[in-house]
Amino acid sequence: MMPALETQPGDPLMDSPERAELRRMIRQLIEEISPAEHTSVLDESETFDAQLYSKLAELGLLGIDAPEEFGGGGDVRDQLVLIEELAKGPTSMAAFMISQFAVVQVLASFGRTAQAREVLAALVAGRTRVSFALSEPDGGTDVARVMKTRARRVDSGGFVLHGQKTWISGAAEADWLVVLARSSEIERSPVEGITMFLVPTNLPGIEIRAIDTLGIHSLSTCDVFLDDVEVPEETILGDLDRGMRQVFATVNREGLNAAAATLGVGLGALELAIEHTKERFVFGKPVASFQVPQHWMVDAAVQLEAARSLMGRAAEIEVAGGNADSLASMAKLIASEAAVEISLKGMQLMGGAGYTRASAMQRLFRDGRLWSFSPLNNEMVRNRLGEGWLGLPRSY
Ligand SMILES: Cc1cc2nc3c(=O)[nH]c(=O)nc-3n(C[C@H](O)[C@H](O)[C@H](O)COP(=O)(O)OP(=O)(O)OC[C@H]3O[C@@H](n4cnc5c(N)ncnc54)[C@H](O)[C@@H]3O)c2cc1C
Repeated sequence: MMPALETQPGDPLMDSPERAELRRMIRQLIEEISPAEHTSVLDESETFDAQLYSKLAELGLLGIDAPEEFGGGGDVRDQLVLIEELAKGPTSMAAFMISQFAVVQVLASFGRTAQAREVLAALVAGRTRVSFALSEPDGGTDVARVMKTRARRVDSGGFVLHGQKTWISGAAEADWLVVLARSSEIERSPVEGITMFLVPTNLPGIEIRAIDTLGIHSLSTCDVFLDDVEVPEETILGDLDRGMRQVFATVNREGLNAAAATLGVGLGALELAIEHTKERFVFGKPVASFQVPQHWMVDAAVQLEAARSLMGRAAEIEVAGGNADSLASMAKLIASEAAVEISLKGMQLMGGAGYTRASAMQRLFRDGRLWSFSPLNNEMVRNRLGEGWLGLPRSY
């Protein structure tokens, strides 16, 4: 990493020796277990990095911010450091961790049954995997309004789930799904009347099929079909009909974690661009000595520093118990747009070398593209900032 792109003592995300040590440890782990060539092989073969996952479990990093009784520890700042470092190299694992932390948070907050608590402990220990199934074919952005998956009460006291979820990260390898389904038709507001269930993936009626995506190839993205899947009432997480409201806090944290992922992608791409353009000679001079490439790279570094500052500030406010939603949204906005732009320009700066699948630049572009529209698309992020931060009339 170029010294100028490193965190500095005094940075919000470097303010403790423990966090500096965490960053160093993750870097070392990636160097040892998932260096660039290995990540590229897994990306080509669309394989999950099981060895890296086991090591993250061993180090207790799968449960950052979970309650200590479940083997958790640390807080959002540690999550951000982990995700940023992963995203620079094995980006799919950063995507996996965003989903992992979301389900950990959901289970820690709303898992009241013995089974939910067992699943949480196993999830943190790396003994089970849980996917978060909210999006549907008719829409991800306004999913509550268009949700077709139904939870119908049956005589046994349980529910029958019927519908389809789509784009579900890691579902092909998951043992459990957190499923959001409409449980009552409440006219007042679409976010009411939706319930969250913790469902084993091996129940009759569940079918999971992989989707061929542009990037994040080392983590499956799946369609999940629920064909009259019967579940007992105890599978409800939190309160009946309150599932969507319960999920909102998770979505906000996902946004901040997505900022860390895209910051990592942007830093990884910029580092590659700097390395390549210093070494590659054109007209007898390094590409990096021309003014246009330099300006691109300087602008990239400035954007990333701005994103890092916003992200750090949002994290500190969140840890202090404040509301960091707007700052977290801004961090995600800047970082995700920077990541796409930097990796795209990075490919240009590398010429033909940026067009080969052997180069990590094209993978960073494909992987980083995800967070421009997920977990919330940047147009909606702007809409929400307009309304919530500037007090403008609702635009959607
Ligand atoms: C690789 C991958 C992994 C994913 N993992 C998960 C997961 O684990 N669980 C899960 O539940 N979901 C997951 N998703 C789904 C993701 O959250 C959705 O793709 C996202 O919410 C956008 O929804 P959509 O794709 O239906 O886009 P749409 O809702 O169809 O929106 C399309 C576009 O319309 C525009 N738009 C929408 N609303 C507005 C507006 N009000 N104003 C202006 N423009 C607007 C935006 O440009 C937006 O990108 C994943 C998606 C992918 C691709």
